[in-house]
Amino acid sequence: MEAKNWLKTVFYFARPCKMKMIISVICAIISVVGGLVPYVGVYRIITMFFDGHQNINDIILWIAISVGGYSIKFVFHGISTVLAHISAYSILENMRIQITKRLMEAPLGSVLNQKIGKMKSVIIDRVETIELPLAHLIPEGISNLLLSIGVYVYLIIIDWRMALAALMTIPIAAIVYGMMLKGFNKQYADYMEASNHVNSIIVEYVEGIEVIKAFNQSTSSYERFEKAVNSFKQYTLEWFRSTWKHMTFGASVLPSTLMGTMPMGMFLYINGSISPADIAISLILSLGIVAPLTSFTVFVNDLKTIEFAVNDASAFLNMKVLDQVKENAKLQGYPIELQDVSFSYDLENEGKDSIKDSHVLQDINLTLTEGTFGAIVGPSGGGKSTLAKLIVRFWDVTKGTIKIGGVNIKNMPLEQLMDTVSFVTQDNFLFNCSLMENIRLGNPKASDKEVIQAAKAAHCHHFIQNLEKGYETYAGEAGAKLSGGEKQRIAIARAILKDAPIVILDEATAFTDPENEDKIQKSIASLTKGKTLLVIAHRLSTIQNADTIIVLEKGRILETGTHQELLSHCELYKDMWQSHISTKKWVVHNDIREVYKNV
Ligand code: ADP
Ligand code: MG
Repeated sequence: MEAKNWLKTVFYFARPCKMKMIISVICAIISVVGGLVPYVGVYRIITMFFDGHQNINDIILWIAISVGGYSIKFVFHGISTVLAHISAYSILENMRIQITKRLMEAPLGSVLNQKIGKMKSVIIDRVETIELPLAHLIPEGISNLLLSIGVYVYLIIIDWRMALAALMTIPIAAIVYGMMLKGFNKQYADYMEASNHVNSIIVEYVEGIEVIKAFNQSTSSYERFEKAVNSFKQYTLEWFRSTWKHMTFGASVLPSTLMGTMPMGMFLYINGSISPADIAISLILSLGIVAPLTSFTVFVNDLKTIEFAVNDASAFLNMKVLDQVKENAKLQGYPIELQDVSFSYDLENEGKDSIKDSHVLQDINLTLTEGTFGAIVGPSGGGKSTLAKLIVRFWDVTKGTIKIGGVNIKNMPLEQLMDTVSFVTQDNFLFNCSLMENIRLGNPKASDKEVIQAAKAAHCHHFIQNLEKGYETYAGEAGAKLSGGEKQRIAIARAILKDAPIVILDEATAFTDPENEDKIQKSIASLTKGKTLLVIAHRLSTIQNADTIIVLEKGRILETGTHQELLSHCELYKDMWQSHISTKKWVVHNDIREVYKNV
């Protein structure tokens, strides 16, 4: 599967439809043989006339045979094409299924790191581009090649000198095409790059249209977009300009087999060493080589298309997968332990050991006892989110171990880990299905009643009911009407329904208005009742009652303690607290103690 070679990859995916492809090729060959029959028929009829013993029955017989051959050509070509298309689509299907399977098995973090535009483009568009060449290359490529060879062999049998003369234009065309194809690989690669560039700019433009408009950047942004499209046009035209002379010359010379066969035929006839009938059929046959030969040149391009698409897809197909065990592990309660954990994104992204010390987390040791409330605070970019993501195995740690319930998280199936931990972040992604179903994602087996119960606990019931269609409102429709805080509460309702014994909140309350904050805190309180809780927070007031507060700076633990302890020991914490309360005069957070403590 780790095939580097694109042809191998194609064959790998073609394996399930091997039989169909073989039959397709056989049908293509039969079709070619059928296609040769009319030539024989014409030859026989011409010979009859030249020899002077033509009779109507024989002519009708040969016409019938020719028509028969022609029909065979058509019917089998049809069968071959249909089978080739079925095979091609199976290959596409297998490829797409395999890619999406890989995406499921790869570390979630790596998947999220992919550009969504690129992902869509590869899975949908690029993979699609191989269908056409694949479906036509198999039957038509093979039959065109064989037909040319077949016709040519027949020509050799009739007169080898004429056969030789028919090839006269090929060296000339070959030189011209050779000149044109020089640097073709490089040019094609550049072309694909330019095309990808334009695509990504278009995606960026469309996705960012909201921001572009809001900041009144339409003109400059449009200029960038226009420039990209223009330079792509320029590039394509340039390429075309540099090749069209060769192309046209080659395309007009290559098929001109008559340039060789005509003079040669005359010469041999004057010498008396060829019959008129043989001249006639030789001329016809030499024309018969042409069409298949020229269409074969098109396939060079097609092969390139497949190569590039398959290579793009391979990038996804060869994504590193997360090693997983099958058997559920026996957990001893639900504490979280990190031992000597270091992590770097570089190793994960590139897979090679870059020497430079780019650890985002370094030698982290911490233990969160079951049922307690831990908090991580620190300057932005310090690695807080990364730490949370490592606990849910978005990535594997570079060094050290993370244990839950005494078991290394690598030694439990991902499903068990996901059942054990609820991870709520600021990106409260809502799927475009009803709000009822959105909440139910937390536990697909939950009844409507349970969903509503969770919604009530998360303080969303009220505003959901006020929507026109209530719980049946689609997230898309509701999207514009829901505030950030309301979306967060829906995400929290989902987590409440999931009811996992460990809850990790990554700045889940970061962007809420004060009015909502109280409700969110209450809904979080019902989510975290009696659970092991790890909160990453901007607003220190929300975590001042935590049992343990960890101050993380530049990937290292600076200090650990309670709010009071840290206020007396830790300068950084003190500063953060000072700046926090100075901006926070307007909200009274005394009741947060209750919110977290009476759980
Ligand atoms: P915090 O949550 O404390 O603000 P993060 O854990 O998000 O910090 O980021 C820590 C560091 O890791 C930052 O320097 C950030 O640029 C980097 N980083 C975060 N996510 C990724 C990612 N997906 N790929 C590469 N680097 C990342
Ligand atoms: Mg963060």
